[in-house]
Amino acid sequence: MIVVMQLECTAKDIQGVQEHLDKRGLQGHLSQGVERTVIGVVGQTYPELQDELEVLAGVREVVRISRPYKLTGREFQPANTVFKVGGVTIGGGNLVVFAGPCAVESEEQLMSTARAVKAAGATVLRGGAFKPRTSPYSFRGLGEEGLKLLEEARNETGMPVITEVMDTKDVELVSRYADILQIGARNMQNFALLEEVGRAGKPVMLKRGFSATYEDWLLAGEYIMATGNRQLMLCERGIRTFEHFTRNTLDLAAIPVIKRLSHLPVVADPSHGTGKWYLVTPLAMAAVAVGADALIVEVHPNPDTALSDGAQSLTFENFGKLMRQVKAIRKVAEQVAVSQ
Ligand code: PEP
Ligand code: MN
Repeated sequence: MIVVMQLECTAKDIQGVQEHLDKRGLQGHLSQGVERTVIGVVGQTYPELQDELEVLAGVREVVRISRPYKLTGREFQPANTVFKVGGVTIGGGNLVVFAGPCAVESEEQLMSTARAVKAAGATVLRGGAFKPRTSPYSFRGLGEEGLKLLEEARNETGMPVITEVMDTKDVELVSRYADILQIGARNMQNFALLEEVGRAGKPVMLKRGFSATYEDWLLAGEYIMATGNRQLMLCERGIRTFEHFTRNTLDLAAIPVIKRLSHLPVVADPSHGTGKWYLVTPLAMAAVAVGADALIVEVHPNPDTALSDGAQSLTFENFGKLMRQVKAIRKVAEQVAVSQ
């Protein structure tokens, strides 16, 4: 249920609604946009609540929410979610690029990559310390040592760091080092992990599962937001299809669809979305053209020797080209939007 306030409502009216919800053991999720102020009702509602709320001062109407996801949905919060990580604004209309190696391998590998991606215009550093690998015999990350290297890279470059957490028992540890917690595709429906990560109070990036529908994905996000954490972004990283030439099929339609259904920032991952380095830049450009708020891209000093995902990693030179090309596309997309 959402309470749509009148345009000229006062702070006291909003407080009145919040207090009414409080008395009924419910919570109000306030969303104050330029055009409208709405209060989303969280908790077990009952039919009479609609009448009770409709007569309160400053209330224009009370609408039932038709979709199963609430906190992640646009009905609940019409205005886009925008938040800051370090000095970087996510979801505010600027294109943000997260870049770095798939896995943190060594100080030299991470520091050289961090410097190179920063010089090319990336503003968030990625790097896995806990790696979900299909085979248990593959390189599974450096663990805390990798987190310490990420911290060192942040200290030197000033770039906030995003890294994956795979297990509830590691959330506290990873939160001590990371600026953004990543939930990987394989864990999209690990509900205990989603709640634990939500409670950590840090910004979260939730990757789409291999075969998750949009609704599955938004409901997974709901677990995180229901903990009170509002700093969530959703990452389209490709899904399993019948096509095996590419590692996954980057679902470009997901980007405008999610932006329509949800207020959350959308990140595109053309690296895992294709699995081939030469497809990363074309798909990054496409993702920007269809409205992605951010990109996450794998970069390695020497992809041939990478311990994970070398085939989809860009060299420093190719990453520089990607940055120039996506910036050009972004400019065109802005001009087209203004001229329509
Ligand atoms: C990654 O970002 O390196 C990763 C493992 O991603 P995904 O969960 O999308 O496979
Ligand atoms: Mn990877």
